[in-house]
Amino acid sequence: MATDDDIRTIKLGRPAPKVGFVSLGCPKALVDSERIITKLRAEGYELSADYAGADVVVVNTCGFLDSAKQESLDAIGEALAENGRVIVTGCMGGDKQAITSVHPGVLAVTGPHQYEQVVEAVHGAVAPPHDPFVDLVPPEGLHLTPRHYAYLKISEGCNNRCSFCIIPSLRGDLSSRSAGDVMREAERLVKAGVKELMVISQDTSAYGLDLKYAQSDWRGAPLKTRFFDLAQALGSLGAWVRLHYVYPYPHVDDVIPLMAEGRVLPYLDIPFQHASPKVLKAMRRPGAQDKTLERIRRWREICPDLAIRSTFIVGFPGETDEDFELLLDWLGEARLNRVGCFKYEPVEGAAANALDDAVPEEVKEERWHRFMAKQQDVSREVLATRVGREIDVIIDEVDEEGALGRSVWDAPEIDGSVFLNEDSDVKAGDIVRAKVVHADEYDLWAERVSDPG
Ligand code: SF4
Repeated sequence: MATDDDIRTIKLGRPAPKVGFVSLGCPKALVDSERIITKLRAEGYELSADYAGADVVVVNTCGFLDSAKQESLDAIGEALAENGRVIVTGCMGGDKQAITSVHPGVLAVTGPHQYEQVVEAVHGAVAPPHDPFVDLVPPEGLHLTPRHYAYLKISEGCNNRCSFCIIPSLRGDLSSRSAGDVMREAERLVKAGVKELMVISQDTSAYGLDLKYAQSDWRGAPLKTRFFDLAQALGSLGAWVRLHYVYPYPHVDDVIPLMAEGRVLPYLDIPFQHASPKVLKAMRRPGAQDKTLERIRRWREICPDLAIRSTFIVGFPGETDEDFELLLDWLGEARLNRVGCFKYEPVEGAAANALDDAVPEEVKEERWHRFMAKQQDVSREVLATRVGREIDVIIDEVDEEGALGRSVWDAPEIDGSVFLNEDSDVKAGDIVRAKVVHADEYDLWAERVSDPG
C-alpha cells in the first residue's frame, strides 16, 4: 500500500526536499524561525526531524552573549558533522567572519530577520519543488510552540541603547508592524485553536512610536498602532493575552485596568535589570527605580492579582557592595513574582566593555547566590498565598500520571507550573478551574473543580 510519502513522490515526480532546522536563542528568534519555516513549507519543502534525513540544515543562531555565540558555533559544527550542508542565519549571522573563520564550510550566512535571504540560500542548496497541488500551509502559518499557545511579534529592533546590549546594532531601530496586521495574525491564530497569545518584541511599551501611532484598518474600523489600543483589541479575541518585554513607562499604567477587568492576563514581564540608580545609569537603562516601586504599588492597588516577572544582572562593572545591597532591599520591597538573574558577561561590541571596575568572578558568583536565595524566599511567600484559591489553569501536557499546566501568572518555559496529579482526563489547551492545595517556591499543586473546556 502506498504511504503518504509515496503519494507525494508520485504527485511531485520526486520526493519533496527536506530542510532540517535548529532554532537557538530567545522567543524573538523562535518567531523568526517560524516565519522562515512557514515560507519554506509554503513552497513545498518538508521539515526533517533529524540531520540524516535533511537535504540542507538551517541553524538560526543567537549572538546575545559570548556563551550563546559559543553554543551557536557548536550547533553549526554539529550540523556540519552530521549533515554537511548548513546555512546560518539569526543574530550571530550579523558577524559573518566570526562564523566562517571557525566553520569555513557553511553554505551561506545571513543576518537577523533576513527571511528572504535565508529562503534564497535554501533555494540555492536544494531547489524548491514546483507543483500546483502543494499547498501545505495552514493560513495561521507554522509554529514551533505547542498548538495552544503562540508568540505574536509586534515589532523588530529597539530605540534604546543599553550599554550591555548589541541588539540595536544587530536588529536596528524600532520598526513596528501595523496594528491591523498584528490583529489579523492574532485572529488567524485564535481561529486555528490558539488559546494564549504571548506578545513579544524588544520593547513592547514603545510599540508604534516609529509609526507615530498611525491608524490602520481592522474589522472595518481604524485602530491605532499603540500599546494600549493593541492590548485592548487583543483582549477582545477571547484568548489569554500575555505581555512580555514591557518597560515601566507612565503609559503602561493604562493597561492595568484591562488586567483588572480580565481582558488581558494580569502579568507583566518587565526586565528591570537592576535597582541602583548608579548602575542603571551605567547600563543606560530607561526608567528610575524609586518611582518604579511607587508605580508597582499603584498597579497592585488597581489589579491586586498582577504578577510581575523580571530579569536582573548582577556583577555589572562598577557595582559596589552598596549597590548590590540596594538591589536586595528593592527586591524585598517589590515582591516580584518571578525573577531570573544573570551574572554580567561582556558581549563583544557592547559599550559596557569600556567601563572600569569589573567585578571579580567570585564576587559575581556570591552575589548571584544571595540574590537567588532572597528571591526564593519572596517567591515562596507569594505562592503560599495562593493555597486555597480557585484559579484558571491552561493545560500544557498530559500523561498517565496527571496533567501539567500553568496559571495566568506563569508564562511557558520561563515561569512555574501547576501540577494536577492523577488527573489525565484533560488535554493540552484546555483551560480548567482548579483549587490550589500546595505550593513551593516555584510551582503550585491543584485539584480540578471544573470539567475541561
Ligand atoms: S531595551 Fe536595552 S536590552 Fe532591550 S533590546 Fe533594547 S537596547 Fe537591548
